[in-house]
Amino acid sequence: MLKVDQLKLDISHSSDDLLSLISKKLRVKSSDITSWAILKKSVDARKKPDVYFVYSVSVELAGNLEKKVLDKNKKDNNINPYSKKEYALPRLDKELCPIVIGAGPAGLFAAYAFALNNMQPIIFERGKEVDQRTTDILKFWETGVLDTKSNVQFGEGGAGTFSDGKLNTLVNDKLGRNKFVLETFVKFGAPSNILYDYKPHIGTDVLKDVIKNLRNEIIRLGGEFHFNCQVTDFLIEDGKIKGVLAGDKKYLSENVVLAIGHSARDTFKKLYDLGFDMEAKDFAVGFRIEHPQAIISQSMYGPRFDELEPAAYKLACNLDNGRGVYSFCMCPGGYVVNSSSEANRLVVNGMSYSKRDSKNANSAIVVTVGGREFDKSNPLSGIEYQRAIENKAFELCDGKIPQQLFGDYKTGKISSNYGNFDSVTKGLTDFGPLHEIFSQEIRDSIIDAMGFFGTKIKGFDRLDSILSGVESRTSSPVRIKRNELFQSNVSGLYPCGEGAGYAGGITSAAMDGLKVAEAVIANNKE
Ligand code: FAD
Repeated sequence: MLKVDQLKLDISHSSDDLLSLISKKLRVKSSDITSWAILKKSVDARKKPDVYFVYSVSVELAGNLEKKVLDKNKKDNNINPYSKKEYALPRLDKELCPIVIGAGPAGLFAAYAFALNNMQPIIFERGKEVDQRTTDILKFWETGVLDTKSNVQFGEGGAGTFSDGKLNTLVNDKLGRNKFVLETFVKFGAPSNILYDYKPHIGTDVLKDVIKNLRNEIIRLGGEFHFNCQVTDFLIEDGKIKGVLAGDKKYLSENVVLAIGHSARDTFKKLYDLGFDMEAKDFAVGFRIEHPQAIISQSMYGPRFDELEPAAYKLACNLDNGRGVYSFCMCPGGYVVNSSSEANRLVVNGMSYSKRDSKNANSAIVVTVGGREFDKSNPLSGIEYQRAIENKAFELCDGKIPQQLFGDYKTGKISSNYGNFDSVTKGLTDFGPLHEIFSQEIRDSIIDAMGFFGTKIKGFDRLDSILSGVESRTSSPVRIKRNELFQSNVSGLYPCGEGAGYAGGITSAAMDGLKVAEAVIANNKE
């Protein structure tokens, strides 16, 4: 098989055009191409108004043509031999009954790997199954009454269920785990273009169905789910895990995967009290910002932006004060969502549906925080810092999402109305003094960075950009250390996913779930 890169076509092209281009590039007849598939598809808008799709494809040629084509094109870096990289899940086939705590992407993929091995995993999830969870969240967004057990952070599917469903990751993937995760998503209901899109995305609507189908398959393979069932204690003997206490009942297992996400603050406290080896880690805080999607798409793609999916962006800068400021979790055609999980504390994030058809683009604009804000010698101090800013955000507008136009944020004035566009939000909102939340240094960092971002995307720093507060759960504020066997200082307990500090995002958490399952399997082989 061959891999052909850098095949460029105008965005209006047809599938036949791509096949013609492949045969032209390889200098073979179309009829000599026995099969082909897209491996990667991205947009090239560097020479606006011209905009192209750029493809990498795999191609199979009849007879011994592949060797001839390679010989003829020795100097062309874009034509190479290719073999498919398949993920090989190690085998165990033992009824080990490992416990998995948390049904987010990390826990679900660890459980799936166990289930595929007939290991009969037992999964505990403090929140509800996804349909009941959806009802609770919609009620919260309409009324402002939060259920601390069932919300945007807690419940089946984990933190990303009510998300943009972006599935891209920067994690290095030599073993094919990324592909396996995406193929699993497709197997359980996601569209197949996520296998080759440069920035794959499915939206919250599709993601919910994928999660349900994955759960049903794990059950079919012998797994057992306990929803509404928080793990509140860990049974430890002689430095080894023996089981957990969940919903007032003891469950025994010497293999426990801890995939609790970054918001399980009570569980972090329990682990700390029990002597688990943990450390505070830097993270980032800021606001969610909204712009009309059209100005973002136009800036990224030029006048033909309407012919393409709504554009995403990524912005970053390092300031002289040593702070990094960057955009995070950008949601094209998305909604700002109230993602709170604790009473009297408020957090926002972003979400979209598969069509990404709201009129606004949103993303978090966040500033790195660490030792200047909290005492890093105390592993739980980052959590206390998060809590303090989430408290302030809650108090600014009596529990409604506080908002401020960027121009008013700069001058320190409470906004009285939106500018040339309105906010699209899931959750109640009001205008409030967001400029009071962070230290002056962080506020100045956001203002300086916005000026710089305005030079990258025209209109990014427009004065009527809408800020919503507060973004505080960008990544885990703690790391639960794991050794070369992927275990914590309590052996048999495997910290996993974003909460343990080893992943960030849906796909990377899922990949870490696989990695940890592989370690459990390897450590239990005789
Ligand atoms: P989580 O998904 O947080 O799952 C942990 C689970 O453990 C939770 O369901 C929790 O209820 C459960 N749990 C915690 N403690 C206990 C306990 N003691 N007992 C039992 N259960 C427990 N990432 C992307 O890649 N793309 C996006 O578009 C995206 N958008 C996002 C939008 C929003 C609104 C949010 C909140 C996050 C978004 N993220 C996105 C981040 C992504 O969701 C996380 O990186 C990912 O979910 C982390 O996976 P995880 O399995 O490690 O943890």
